[in-house]
Amino acid sequence: MKAQELRQLFFEFFESKGHHIVPSAPMVVKNDPTLMFTNAGMNQFKDIFLGNQQPVNKRVANSQKCLRVSGKHNDLEEVGHDTYHHTMFEMLGNWSFGDYFKKEAIEWGWELLVRRLGIPEDRLYATIFKGNKEDSVPRDDEAFAYWEKCFSKPEGRIIEGSKKDNFWEMGETGPCGPCSEIHVDIRDEEEREKIPGKDLVNKGHPHVIEIWNLVFIQYNRRSDGVLEQLPSKHVDTGMGFERLCMVIQGKKSNYDTDIFQSVIKEISSITGKPYGKNEKWDIALRVIADHLRAVAFSIADGQLPSNNKAGYVIRRILRRAVRYGYNNLDVEEPFMHKLVSVLAHTMGNQYPELQSDNVQISKIIFEEETAFLKTLGKGLKMIGIVITDLRKERKNIMPGKVAFEMYDTFGFPVDLTQLILKENNMHLDYQGFEDEMKSQKKRSREDASVETADWTVLNDLEGTEFTGYEKTEDTVIITKYRTVKVKGKESYHLVFNKTPFYAESGGQIGDTGKIISGTEKIEIYDTIKENNLIIHLAKRLPSEPSLDFMAVVDPEKRLLTANNHTATHMIHFALRSVLGKHVEQKGSLVTPDRLRFDFSHFSKLSKKELSKVEDLVNIMVRENHFCKTTSGVSLDKAQSMGAMALFGEKYGKTVRVVEFGKSVELCGGTHVNATGSIGFVKIVSEGAIAAGVRRIEAVTASKAEVYINERLNTIDEIASLLKSTGNLTESVEKLISENSLLKKSIEKFQAQSATIMLKELEGKAVIINNIRFISGKLETDSGDVLKNIASLIRNSSDNTILVIGSKNGEKANLLVMVSDKLVKERNISAVTIIKEIAGEINGGGGGQPFLATAGGKNPAGLERALSKAASLLQKILP
Ligand code: ATP
Ligand code: MG
Repeated sequence: MKAQELRQLFFEFFESKGHHIVPSAPMVVKNDPTLMFTNAGMNQFKDIFLGNQQPVNKRVANSQKCLRVSGKHNDLEEVGHDTYHHTMFEMLGNWSFGDYFKKEAIEWGWELLVRRLGIPEDRLYATIFKGNKEDSVPRDDEAFAYWEKCFSKPEGRIIEGSKKDNFWEMGETGPCGPCSEIHVDIRDEEEREKIPGKDLVNKGHPHVIEIWNLVFIQYNRRSDGVLEQLPSKHVDTGMGFERLCMVIQGKKSNYDTDIFQSVIKEISSITGKPYGKNEKWDIALRVIADHLRAVAFSIADGQLPSNNKAGYVIRRILRRAVRYGYNNLDVEEPFMHKLVSVLAHTMGNQYPELQSDNVQISKIIFEEETAFLKTLGKGLKMIGIVITDLRKERKNIMPGKVAFEMYDTFGFPVDLTQLILKENNMHLDYQGFEDEMKSQKKRSREDASVETADWTVLNDLEGTEFTGYEKTEDTVIITKYRTVKVKGKESYHLVFNKTPFYAESGGQIGDTGKIISGTEKIEIYDTIKENNLIIHLAKRLPSEPSLDFMAVVDPEKRLLTANNHTATHMIHFALRSVLGKHVEQKGSLVTPDRLRFDFSHFSKLSKKELSKVEDLVNIMVRENHFCKTTSGVSLDKAQSMGAMALFGEKYGKTVRVVEFGKSVELCGGTHVNATGSIGFVKIVSEGAIAAGVRRIEAVTASKAEVYINERLNTIDEIASLLKSTGNLTESVEKLISENSLLKKSIEKFQAQSATIMLKELEGKAVIINNIRFISGKLETDSGDVLKNIASLIRNSSDNTILVIGSKNGEKANLLVMVSDKLVKERNISAVTIIKEIAGEINGGGGGQPFLATAGGKNPAGLERALSKAASLLQKILP
């Protein structure tokens, strides 16, 4: 059965059991400070488990794009070396939100695998939780009993597991419960006879592996560690799609399924290294096939490789693949970008974003690969220098610190460093490297350590109504609060029953302001969203949190931000009008001071295009379009109104549409009532941030005026400096051309004076040990004249040493020239001479054997320097 059909069969099976099939959430997580990437199917339902949101359907199923490369789940180092862990994989899941529980979850799991898909019973094992005294959780007898009914011969098939494998927790606190995993034994008969499969469950055997985990969420862990029963119980299951394919397609490795084969074939044909011939090649082929998916899916979700946070994780994954290609497959040219179209072809049916974005994904990957290959090249050079130095010192161990610096600053991989050292009969002080690594990790852990206390609930009201579209002030009550400690500093999270404060999202930063009760004022320094909760950040708690408060948003900042948000919409609209419909939003930042808008487009905007965009926006400002918002419409309806949905964005059941004239956007942000109040929009910069992605920055209203006025003032200053009353450009052009004429005549003059001075100097030449020695102090303040003289002599004589000096105000210059022949045949060096004499002018110098110069701060020492040179030559010339 093809992967595609298997996925479909899973959906249909659970549909037949009353489940609603939902799409995968984006793999890159945008509105959750605790998580960078979706790492399990349940992530998108976190709010339901936490009780912040009511489920729309009580039974759902889907296939979720997951990435396990950071935080709690990190499989990166396994990937490629084993055959069943991926960075990015699809997790099939079925959920019950307070509906069915263990019985159905187990029975249906069995029905699907055994009856529908025909996996032989005697290849399956189920694990259950054996219980834990510390948490007072008993053995999961219930799950055991249901499994007993499934197997026709249950003996030895149901295995008890510990907290590590069979108790699932969302985090240190929150929803949790026992889980029951299904494992499959796909070994050959011969091997199965030697060791029973049950002895290999959860032992890391590549052919006895977990495929499905059924989690029964029935507890909540409080921050004091105690478990309490949840009022309603949930089921959360996750099955690795690639592993299921392997089992159903009768393969021994995920990479042998049709999910990976076409990409692997393509890599082989590019590199000339077939799969299955050589373990070193195979590892690299697997790594590349896997990482390509992780990187391509992230880019499609709007996460470009970059040098921080999620973007850095993606960059590292891509680099790991390039490095395996470089080390194991000898590819020194960018190649991964060529694989994107094959991937899009294989997976584009289920994930159309891959198909529609495939050209851009490929360009971005190309750029990253090219840059990293350069880094590799630079790193190789650096290692070369280190190795030479070590050899000179007769050492053969490279200090860990050096390797760490190369790794940390240039991303140069340590295993490559080791490999190169080995080829040079040297090795790395690996312990030293690890120590550096550890202390860096410790530093960043300390920086990132956050302790979050439990909520103190004052009022049972759920959720927060946002009233900030209509007002900036509202009377509120605090429904719950908690203390948060970051790097030892305490702050408070406050949740209200309703709030006029906008929480950071959709690129718009959070509101600031204060809450007031009686004479007490508490500053709110930021507003954030955690899942669906609006959280207000304060440095201190009110003395009586249960009072009523007046919540007041800083109105000026709010207005400036609204100006910039509305301007962002208009710029988006204008860009699509001027450049074409390929322009899509790739990122945005809206603050009170300025706006930043990233969008897809392949070339630099010409001056003309930029001013067209700006003109169009300012026309829209003057046309004074009123803000029209429509809330609670379906995504389909919004799209038919002309709004564009972005990939990688998670939209709720209904959306809000914001219109200003012809600009129509899906947006939850705050805006001006009418565009006229923005006054004026000025684009201040345009540039590239990645292949095919450009960034515009702009300012509005008073900030735009300040920007323009500063520029005008500069122009006024220039005009007054130039005493220009007419056309300023002409005045500047005139100045430039006068300047270049003057330069030319100076050069001519210098050349003439060099010839004159040279004549004079040659007249005073003396012969020391058969060599013509010319020296003298010159009246010139230009170092160029000295160099001119030197080059005249160097070209005309092969038997001269020239030592000259000049005074330039408080400074002195010295120059030594030695004819090439003397350098070669008599081993005389200008550098040696300049080093001897530069001290006299309080300076230092250097250069090459035939020409060296020095600058110093003591012109009075020039004469002494020259006579020192003469006596030195008397001494050293053989
Ligand atoms: P394992 O012990 O094999 O790493 P896990 O305990 O981490 O698995 P879960 O977190 O329970 O797995 O995830 C549910 C299912 O997702 C697993 O049963 C497995 O089939 C699949 N899965 C987990 N991690 C990966 C991965 N890195 N690549 C592919 N599939 C995975
Ligand atoms: Mg795991």
